[in-house]
Amino acid sequence: MEQQLDRAPCGYLVLDQGLRIVEMNTTLRTMTGTENPQHMHDLLTAASRVYFHTYFIPSIMMYGTVNEMFLTLKSKAGPMPVLMNTTERDGFYECALIQMSVRGEYEKELLLAKRKAEDINRETAEAYGKLQILMGKVESKQLELMDLNLELQHLAITDQLTGLKNRRYLEEQLNNLLRQASNGRKVAVLVLDIDHFKQVNDTYGHQMGDAVLQELAWRLEAEVGAEDVVARLGGEEFVVIMPDAGAEEGQAMGNALCSRLASADWQHIPVTVSIGVAAYVPGDKVESLLSRADGFLYKAKASGRNCVVGN
Ligand code: GH3
Ligand code: MG
Ligand code: MG
Repeated sequence: MEQQLDRAPCGYLVLDQGLRIVEMNTTLRTMTGTENPQHMHDLLTAASRVYFHTYFIPSIMMYGTVNEMFLTLKSKAGPMPVLMNTTERDGFYECALIQMSVRGEYEKELLLAKRKAEDINRETAEAYGKLQILMGKVESKQLELMDLNLELQHLAITDQLTGLKNRRYLEEQLNNLLRQASNGRKVAVLVLDIDHFKQVNDTYGHQMGDAVLQELAWRLEAEVGAEDVVARLGGEEFVVIMPDAGAEEGQAMGNALCSRLASADWQHIPVTVSIGVAAYVPGDKVESLLSRADGFLYKAKASGRNCVVGN
């Protein structure tokens, strides 16, 4: 055998028609590690031998060639996959064998990489699904938080017993209005105090007193103007803020409230109120305006209650 063919980078084999090995190059000897095989059977694994017989003999006899036949050779390192091309020449079969193990490994790696990619895809899809659920939860928690914040804001400026605005809101609102009043806008405040309220508590109990405070709250809301704000200053004292109102309008509102409450058909215990009215004068601050109204309220109490005093 020519040296080039003997050392060619593929296995080379010549068989006679009885499948006996006539020639075999060193490359194939090295590939299989078999020293002196006599017959094609000596090279093949048992499974390949069956396949070889059923496919190779009929094909070579019919076409004179067999291309890319996949076989497994015995080798010292274990079964070795090869691709074999055969051509019949002068009654002999010339075979070239290419080792497939590298390609096999490569395919295995490809398959592994494909499986990994599939795993990663599946995990990504699962993680995305979980993320969507979490994002949904976060969103609903954010909405809950917004609701809670709104409720908190509402609670911070609301009087719990009557549902009216509380002192904190009253002071904030008055501050804003007084800032505008220093630029020409009018504002009047009425401070109301229930007459002899202690007697209501003493006679009918604290709970009844609470019910009277609640009734007075809604009655005041019903009587004042749309822009006016009613707040509970504390105890049995209330304040009405009248934006854009001067002393006269304040006094008129005080009189109306006083007489309507005195003649109202009270659900629980009838009460009257005394009212002090103060209108903004330049330089007024929240404290000075409220304390002036308080002074007038004191005078209303002193002059017999159920009446209005203002400037
Ligand atoms: P005046 O006509 O001088 O205002 O007499 P008054 O009895 O109304 O005034 P006083 O300051 O002597 O008593 C106020 C009462 O209001 C005493 C207190 O127990 C009662 N009070 C304060 N806050 C509440 C409350 O939230 N609920 C009830 N039921 N009573 C309250
Ligand atoms: Mg009082
Ligand atoms: Mg009172």
